[in-house]
Amino acid sequence: MSLEILKFPHPFLRKKAVPVTKVNQKIRNLLEAMFQTMKEHLGLGLAAIQVGRLEKVFVAGGDSHKIALVNPELIEKSSLEIMDEGCLSLPGIYLPIERAARVKVAGLNLQGKKVIIEETGLLARAFQQELDHLEGILIIDRVPVTVLKEELEKLEKNIVQEQNKIEPILIAAIRREKGI
Ligand SMILES: [Zn+2]
Repeated sequence: MSLEILKFPHPFLRKKAVPVTKVNQKIRNLLEAMFQTMKEHLGLGLAAIQVGRLEKVFVAGGDSHKIALVNPELIEKSSLEIMDEGCLSLPGIYLPIERAARVKVAGLNLQGKKVIIEETGLLARAFQQELDHLEGILIIDRVPVTVLKEELEKLEKNIVQEQNKIEPILIAAIRREKGI
């Protein structure tokens, strides 16, 4: 089953997730549907908030490294690095974001057992973005406003050249929210 991914400025994206009290079949079904949805959109991570659900869960990875975490918490992070980052809720927007290069996240697996997962590189980055989603935080909140403004201006120039139809609405919504 494929789920609809909410796009900015949908107000649900600003909600905070609620911890799951029991890892039951309903949660497993949600995570499986989220995983399929993430795959269809070629994403590396997806949080339940992005599909209009309040459960504190996310999925990440791919078929060969399938990750589903319930009630995830960041327990350790390394030094920071800046890399361009996109989000399925803000299609076409890529922003240089500072994140830890390595993270350790604790949570429950599909069987409700406590696990600690350590990741580096792109997956570490995905984990941090999904943890943010579960707090109502988006990538546009993770860059200084001056950087965001510059990046939006660059995108706007490309739009004129490429006649892109979706991004102008998104960019206008970001500008409105940030007052830039
Ligand atoms: Zn995202």
